[in-house]
Amino acid sequence: MDGELAGAWVAECARVIAANRNYLTALDAAIGDADHGANMDRGFRAAAGRIAAARPPDAGEVLRLTGLSLLSEVGGASGPLFGTFFVQVGGALGGTAGLGVEAWAEALEAGVEAVAFRGGAERGDKTMLDALLAARDALGEAAAVGADADVALAASAAAAGEGMRATIPMLARRGLAAALGEASLGHQDPGATSAYLLLKAAADVWA
Ligand code: ADP
Ligand code: MG
Repeated sequence: MDGELAGAWVAECARVIAANRNYLTALDAAIGDADHGANMDRGFRAAAGRIAAARPPDAGEVLRLTGLSLLSEVGGASGPLFGTFFVQVGGALGGTAGLGVEAWAEALEAGVEAVAFRGGAERGDKTMLDALLAARDALGEAAAVGADADVALAASAAAAGEGMRATIPMLARRGLAAALGEASLGHQDPGATSAYLLLKAAADVWA
């Protein structure tokens, strides 16, 4: 993976998040404070602008700068978590040239671990981690059987979608939604939805 491809991913993330801004906010209105769409849109708009201006040559730097933009632009719980995710994915990729499924799987692993560490959430807590862990597992399995990049990325996006939908019947144990207790049941988690959109964007850009 090179800087251009990573930049295309970030641009696609910004496009998809903007297109789903109201949807993400509506999800957050149900079990949070109705700012998730605005938070993500502000962060990715800033990130995509920064990348388009700086055009870093390597993917690691593109994703690291994206993470730093999210950290500085997005408030709330999701900014530090998705910011950390991109900084760690970028750091793991470093100056790696050429997208290999294995390198991407290792980078995703690093990003997901950092989100789990920083947020303290576990699988089943009804957070972004439910989509991220599912994507990581599917990508790891695809890498283990030597799948091609397009197949592996499509599998990880599909798994993220399943992880996202799996949050609907969950009881929230982290973030603002946790304060709702049983009222959080029956609602899809906004952060898991964003995580799915970002991984779907990766699969679409790399296809
Ligand atoms: P805030 O909750 O501060 O308003 P956002 O609305 O932008 O921030 O993001 C909410 C999302 O953040 C939730 O839907 C959930 O996926 C995620 N989230 C909240 N707390 C945690 C946590 N501790 N670990 C992982 N994800 C979390
Ligand atoms: Mg919110």
